[in-house]
Parts: sequence; structure tokens; C-alpha cells
Amino acid sequence: MLKIFSKMFSRVDDSVFDELEETMIMADCGVRAAEKVTAELRDAVRDEGITEYRRVKEKLKAIIAKSLTNSGETPRGEGLRVSLVIGVNGSGKTTTIGKLAHMYVKMGKQVMLVAADTFRAAATEQLVVWAERAGVPIVKQREGADPASIVFDALSSAQAKGVEELIIDTAGRLHNNQNLMDELAKIYRVIKSAGAGGGVRRTETLLVLDSTTGQNALNQAKSFNEATDITGLVLTKLDSTAKGGIALAIAEELGIPVKFVGVGESTADLMEFDPDWFAEQLV
Ligand code: GDP
Ligand code: GDP
Ligand code: MG
Repeated sequence: MLKIFSKMFSRVDDSVFDELEETMIMADCGVRAAEKVTAELRDAVRDEGITEYRRVKEKLKAIIAKSLTNSGETPRGEGLRVSLVIGVNGSGKTTTIGKLAHMYVKMGKQVMLVAADTFRAAATEQLVVWAERAGVPIVKQREGADPASIVFDALSSAQAKGVEELIIDTAGRLHNNQNLMDELAKIYRVIKSAGAGGGVRRTETLLVLDSTTGQNALNQAKSFNEATDITGLVLTKLDSTAKGGIALAIAEELGIPVKFVGVGESTADLMEFDPDWFAEQLV
């Protein structure tokens, strides 16, 4: 991940804060978060009489971690949790679902996947591979089938089989925004009505964002957030030359917590988001 605070300074003066604000903006943290974090650091350094560069760095990490800590971990519990995974093409939805399945299986959960990206046949095949890898069942239909009806079938199957984690893969075509958003809304209604029957403990809507796309990820988050109720983010490809600052920008602008980060292409390359770890990587 690109560091926002790698340059060494011999003394702690205004140039430190100016440099920080500038590198934060370059690292995709967004102007608002950059200004806010820098101002907070400046105040803390003054109020606490910090003179050592090393301590400035520690303080900065603490401020960043705090800005990201609205992560409110999802309460774990009994019963069926439905995770609707959304995002534009190529952001890493299917891969993330494969990794999540692996993670939940390791936690001893009953997992089921749903191939509701019926727009491309290859999308279902790709998810089948991940399901086999994790050793979990998958609900799928033919190419072009109505995603909401697949989800409907999956919900009844999951309830009948005592599934605890139902994870839904969706199509991600922002270029046909209205169609896609209508489709998501329809899927959401199906889940909601199953929930009203008492069969669903919790519904998550996870937005998957490719962290290498920079500020564009923020725009994606904004448009998906208009159409759906996003409960958490997954930031993928942080192992690439990604600028992780986007997590700060989104926390500042939209207040949506990051739940997971993707750090590679294989099953184990998914981590639950840890603000302290993230701040450490960033600084
Ligand atoms: P989808 O279109 O949103 O379902 O995206 P895919 O899951 O098909 O992923 C698109 C590409 O990104 C694939 O080549 C994945 O292997 C790759 N990818 C996904 N997550 C990560 C990650 O965390 N790190 C890296 N390096 N590649 C990833
Ligand atoms: P395009 O011109 O390639 O964007 O495709 P169209 O929007 O004209 O749709 C072609 C067919 O695919 C229609 O029968 C639609 O019902 C279906 N379709 C279009 N968009 C989606 C989508 O986002 N998801 C799914 N599952 N089907 C879609
Ligand atoms: Mg996919």
C-alpha cells in the first residue's frame, strides 16, 4: 500500500503537516479526510507538546485508526444471514465471495452460494469453481434467468437446510445503471419479504470496490448507495499498487464501514478489516 508518511523530517514544524496533507490527497484519502486528519494531528501535537517525529507518527496512526473505527462489527448470532454482494464488473465480487465462503467454512458455518449474475454464463461457471473449492452448495439457473427468482429459490433452500451464511453474487453493469439498480432492488425486495417471515436474521449489502481505481471507487460507492442500503465495504486488490487512502475518503464522505480487505487472488487472501492494521500499513 502507498505510504502517506514515509518522508523523514528532522524537526516537527508546519512543513510536516503540509507534506502530510498533500500526500494524503495523492493517496486517495480525499481532500476532506486529508484536511480533517491533518488538523487533528496539528492540534494534538500542539496540545500534547509532541516534539519527536516518531511520536507524531504514532499519533497519526491513532487518528487514522479512529476515523475508520465506525466499523461496528456485525453481531454474530444464530440463524440465516444473507449477504448481497454488489459492485461494478471486475471489482472482485466473485473472488471475494469465494474467499468469504472459505472463511465461513473454516469458522464452522453452513454456507451456500447463489449465482445471481446471470448476465454472462461464465459468471456462474466461475462461482461454481469457487463453491467446489470451498466445498459448499450453490444455487444456480440457466444464463439469462431472472436473478430475483434465483434468490427466491435460494432463500427457501437455505431455510430448509439450516444454512447460516447465504452469499449472493450479482451482475455489475453500471453502464446500464437503471436496469442494474432495478434488478438489485427486486432482489432486495425478495430478501426483505423472506425476512418478514422471520426466516432471515440479518441482511448485509456488501459493496466490493477495487482499491486500484482510486477516486472512481468513491463515485461508485455514491451511486450504489443511492440505490441500495450498503452495510459494508470490501476493498479489493490492496496487494497491488493500491492507494488504501480510499477507505478514509469513503469513511469521511459516506460513513460506510469497511468490513473486509482483499490482498490477493487466492482463497486465504481476505482479511477482516482492522483499523489499526490499516493505519499501520498506510503510515
Ligand atoms: P467481479 O467481476 O466483480 O466478479 O470480479 P472477479 O471476482 O471476477 O475479479 C476480477 C479480477 O480481479 C480477477 O482477475 C481476480 O482474480 C482479481 N482480484 C479479485 N480480488 C483481488 C485481490 O484482492 N487482489 C488481486 N491481486 N486480485 C484480485
Ligand atoms: P445490452 O444491450 O447488451 O446491454 O443488453 P440489454 O440491456 O438489451 O439486455 C439483453 C437481455 O439481457 C434482456 O433480455 C435483458 O432482460 C437481459 N439483461 C439485461 N441486463 C441484465 C442484467 O443486468 N442482468 C440480467 N440478469 N439480465 C439482464
Ligand atoms: Mg463476477
